Amino acid sequence: MAPRPGKLVVISGPSGVGKTSILRRLLTDLPQLVPSVSATTRPPRAGEKEGVDYHFLSAAEFEKRRAAGEFLECCQVYGRQHWYGTLVAEVKPRLAAGAWVVLEIDVEGTLSILGRYPEAVTIFVEPTHPDQLEERLTGRGTESPEAMARRLEVARRELLEAHRYQHRVVNENLEAAVDSIKRILADAGLPTHPTPAHSGAHA
Ligand code: 5GP
Repeated sequence: MAPRPGKLVVISGPSGVGKTSILRRLLTDLPQLVPSVSATTRPPRAGEKEGVDYHFLSAAEFEKRRAAGEFLECCQVYGRQHWYGTLVAEVKPRLAAGAWVVLEIDVEGTLSILGRYPEAVTIFVEPTHPDQLEERLTGRGTESPEAMARRLEVARRELLEAHRYQHRVVNENLEAAVDSIKRILADAGLPTHPTPAHSGAHA
């Protein structure tokens, strides 16, 4: 018997809101969730690993794969000069095998995904206050003041898009945010055990 098809879970939120920590915890606590590793033309940051954080591609390689129809969605993310995209190979075979696949993408990408997968569960992570973003981004200490100011401006614009999502989760603290998302996923029918697709296909 063919497995029940899986579902897409889309998580978005402004830079500095703590999405990465939330996602890491969700993936540890819920082995039923499979992350989709996006492709990007931006260079890796310190500590980022090829095939884990992103598939890091040259602009030429990205364009070649885009022209070949290998992306489910891709765009030049607002405020960044680089391309980002979700690979078909990260998503389709796993959905077909019954997995719940998590995408961490921007608003434009979310809207494209909803066009193809209207049943996707969309979650927007918000800070308790916009100032929280500034504190977190400054705390990272990885960027110049100009780059920081640009990121903050982008983050503020991203916050205005929250209403496009089915669910909004305020990241007051990690535990509470992770619990809220777990409840949303349980209500959406997340299976209690991993499917065989968990160890499934790769890009
Ligand atoms: P960063 O460069 O900080 O890792 O990510 C920058 C932005 O790109 C984030 O808002 C993130 O959600 C978005 N992003 C990452 N991967 C994808 C993708 O595959 N598609 C789209 N549309 N956005 C992505």
